Amino acid sequence: MARPILLAVDDDASVLEAVVQDLRRQYGKTYRVMRAASGQAALDTLTQLKTREEPVALLLSDQRMPGMTGVEMLERARGLYPEACRVLLTAYTDTEAAIRAINSARIHYYLNKPWDPPEEKLYPVLNDLLEDWQAGYRPPFEGLRVIGHRWSLNDHRVRNFLSRNQVPYRWFDVAAGAEALKLLEDRQLDPQKLPVVLFADGAVLVDPDLEDLAARVGLRVQAAQDFYDLVVVGAGPAGLAAAVYGASEGLNTVVIEPVAPGGQAGSSSRIENYLGFPSGVTGAELGRRAHTQASRFGAEFVTQRATGMRVDGQYRFIQLADGREVSCHAVLLAPGVQYRKLEIPGGERLTGRGVYYGAALVEALACKGEEVYIVGGANSAGQAALHFARFAAKVTILVRGEGLSATMSKYLIDEIARTSNIVVEARTQVLEAIGDERLAALTLRGPSGEVQVPASSLFVFIGAAPVTAWLPPCILRDEKGFLLAGPDLRKDGKSPEVWHEKREPFLLESSVPGVFVAGDVRHGSVKRVASAVGEGSIAVQFVHQYLAGF
Ligand SMILES: Cc1cc2nc3c(=O)[nH]c(=O)nc-3n(C[C@H](O)[C@H](O)[C@H](O)COP(=O)(O)OP(=O)(O)OC[C@H]3O[C@@H](n4cnc5c(N)ncnc54)[C@H](O)[C@@H]3O)c2cc1C
Repeated sequence: MARPILLAVDDDASVLEAVVQDLRRQYGKTYRVMRAASGQAALDTLTQLKTREEPVALLLSDQRMPGMTGVEMLERARGLYPEACRVLLTAYTDTEAAIRAINSARIHYYLNKPWDPPEEKLYPVLNDLLEDWQAGYRPPFEGLRVIGHRWSLNDHRVRNFLSRNQVPYRWFDVAAGAEALKLLEDRQLDPQKLPVVLFADGAVLVDPDLEDLAARVGLRVQAAQDFYDLVVVGAGPAGLAAAVYGASEGLNTVVIEPVAPGGQAGSSSRIENYLGFPSGVTGAELGRRAHTQASRFGAEFVTQRATGMRVDGQYRFIQLADGREVSCHAVLLAPGVQYRKLEIPGGERLTGRGVYYGAALVEALACKGEEVYIVGGANSAGQAALHFARFAAKVTILVRGEGLSATMSKYLIDEIARTSNIVVEARTQVLEAIGDERLAALTLRGPSGEVQVPASSLFVFIGAAPVTAWLPPCILRDEKGFLLAGPDLRKDGKSPEVWHEKREPFLLESSVPGVFVAGDVRHGSVKRVASAVGEGSIAVQFVHQYLAGF
């Protein structure tokens, strides 16, 4: 298999030689190091590599070059290799330009010259970037194949599950070519019973439920022990933070999560405002890193949905979808919120068949060259629009209000304005989703009246609500289902009737002692990654205090 390429670009031959030598010394075994003596030469090389379908992992370019600056080159290279890491080498005096380029050219990092010693100033940065690139890189395919129908909810679920759990697979759309039908025919499988998952060892799953699939791809679906100090429900930012702190501080911790670590943030194409990631981080990447970190400290992850909870003396039991239970002393509830449904005729029936909730990143490639509609005016809709604009011919954002300024962050509004294939339709609402087997058209009502537009994909971002009905009534919640914790439990200055302890509930403790709440599901929470991470971490401190009382 061809090694991925690191391309160094500099017009100064001696500097270029030095960069190439440093790259070879550290990365020569895993990557092929190439060089270009100008911006144009680099673009020519990349064009050739692209036609040969060779992978490029990193572009490391000098800024000041005659003819074309490093920023210009990196910006243009984005069109050829959007996933490659883009790093600028600058003189100290060019630092301002480099910081601006993080936005304009979406460079991932800038390094000041000289970079000696590389062990301190070059390799740590590149190691980090290349690790991220490797995580998203899919080498030529050797593994799992999914055969299905683009416009089927079950197919969408399977692909979404595999993508979110970072299980590499290749998808064959039965409607798109003979290859899919041939694969089915060879195995005498019924093309009416889809999706089908083919494993490298010849095993086959037909229309699998996600738990069977999870077990088959090697995800753990059963807890290793009967009893834990701490059970965390939900592996979004709040649950993952609790798992990292809990496990690193010696608590025997298990995390219950049916989909994949990352939570709602996992469906976010790029989180730009999380501290410490100046050029943004995808939610999936943040989830992957946190999952690795928590696992390294010994936290266990179980791919299951929590379906109930019961309390017996000082023991708490979390019931799982397969009927099993895990018991513990303390629980952290961090199941976040779920997207609100678009209540329009056709909306329910066409879900997964053209109508999607959240960014459904797995659909992005399938939308190549098409027109995509997005409903919603908040940041999540803006991020999705920018993501889809990379693949779709046109992205139309439909908002009920006057525009985006009241609901979306300025940095997203600015970037949308700079993206030529995104259109914002203000004062417009979706009335109906039309189609039999799949979404074919939308009825919209806008400033010029009602219109029907042809549409194949509609991504919905109209807010979210907690799903907490599975919890017992002793866990108190507000009228919308958000969980009450700490001071929010008090009414007229008094603790709730269900609270029988002599002490007051801790800050993030629910109405049941030892059961804590963190993140978006908590009444009054700030719906941000950073605050969910903060609450998850703080909750662990209260778990320690609670356990100390035993
Ligand atoms: C598209 C999008 C873009 C966003 N962009 C940003 C941004 O740029 N910056 C920012 O700060 N915030 C952003 N947010 C908000 C941010 O993602 C949330 O505030 C944050 O993820 C909340 O974390 P959480 O852990 O509380 O919940 P979640 O992230 O919702 O995670 C909850 C997890 O619990 C799991 N779960 C649910 N029910 C159960 C159950 N019964 N059993 C077991 N597990 C369960 C879910 O599968 C999920 O993985 C964005 C949100 C969305 C949807």
